[in-house]
Amino acid sequence: MGIQLFKANFAVEACLKQVRECLEKGWTGMGFKTVELEEAWKEYTGHKYAYYLNSNTAGLYMAVDTLKEVCGWDNGDEIISTPLTFISTNHAIAKNNMNAVFADVDDTLCLDPQSVEEHITDKTRAVIFVGLGGNTGRLGEVKKICKNYGLKLIIDAAHMAGTRYRDGSIPGANGEADITVYSFQAVKNLPTGDSGMICTDDAELDEIFRKKAWLGINKDTYTRAMNKEGTYKWKYNVEYVGDKYNGNSIMAGIALAQLPFLDRDNAYRRTLAQWYTDEFAQYPNQIGLVTVLDDCISSRHLYQIFVNDRDGLMMYLNANDVYPGVHYMSNTEYSMYSYAKGSCVNADFASNHIISLPMHMEISHKDVKYIAKLVVKYLMDIRGGERLK
Ligand SMILES: *Cc1c(COP(=O)(O)O)cnc(C)c1O
Repeated sequence: MGIQLFKANFAVEACLKQVRECLEKGWTGMGFKTVELEEAWKEYTGHKYAYYLNSNTAGLYMAVDTLKEVCGWDNGDEIISTPLTFISTNHAIAKNNMNAVFADVDDTLCLDPQSVEEHITDKTRAVIFVGLGGNTGRLGEVKKICKNYGLKLIIDAAHMAGTRYRDGSIPGANGEADITVYSFQAVKNLPTGDSGMICTDDAELDEIFRKKAWLGINKDTYTRAMNKEGTYKWKYNVEYVGDKYNGNSIMAGIALAQLPFLDRDNAYRRTLAQWYTDEFAQYPNQIGLVTVLDDCISSRHLYQIFVNDRDGLMMYLNANDVYPGVHYMSNTEYSMYSYAKGSCVNADFASNHIISLPMHMEISHKDVKYIAKLVVKYLMDIRGGERLK
């Protein structure tokens, strides 16, 4: 099978035990395990509210939709975002008839605060910050800018399950972001099949999420009026054209089984990253590394390097049974976002030079040495050691 970029590592027996509980109880849908997971995730992260969803994408769509409604934003208003992300991030803006304005990334591959500030107009309403690869980048500075200009801050934390600041706190929690959205998709750090979590410290937002994610159904008025005999249990009000975004107990059970291992797995990912970095330390002119600032203990969803002839290296590694990835092609390369093509030089450079090396629990130190040796051989011997440009 060769060495794959990602491979989920499941605590199989613990997962099966959770799923068995759901099946025996006859409760696989929303409630039961989803509520247990929300409680566990709040405890783990420090977010005041957490609502379990069927994906991070659903969460991002709902985050923009909800803020747009609550804050009274108009169609055509702007949200500043990064071109270097999975398209869910930017589709969340377009889906809500708003305009994604692309700011550039910095050496952390996250949004550059200076570029964010330069892109603010009188139509800017929010910033979506992507913690690329688990990195927090200069989120603190972006937060300050949002505060100064009265902008909302949404974090796409798809890569950030388990990322912490040096003091142990979680990015986005303690009021840092208005909304933080995680992904528990199959190859993310807390893998399920597909699911995600939308988190906030704002009770009103959480209440709206719960309605919007379930077709706009609101049971509250009737549950409040419900008498002992359970009359009105079947009655509910509908306030929105909502979506069907809620998570289910089967997926939540798997997340509950995996959560106790998240910190352990992420620690191993950081060890893998250090091993790669050690191997590449001798080649600073040929291999560019991504900056992780001191304050960030990254979940290390990704280990990325910059190289010349990335596509050639990719083919060479594939020929040697190693299968890396690219995170990401600049979204401005896609026709629907091509209005911003060429406007973000660092993101464009990354788009053309970045490669993600295999990163998962079954990679050994020996594998890292083997992969690194192939990378070095390609760049030094086959490409003649030309400088990164
Ligand atoms: C995976 C990913 C998403 C989407 O997550 P899903 O749970 O699959 O919807 C969004 N943003 C980024 C950066 C991602 O990597």
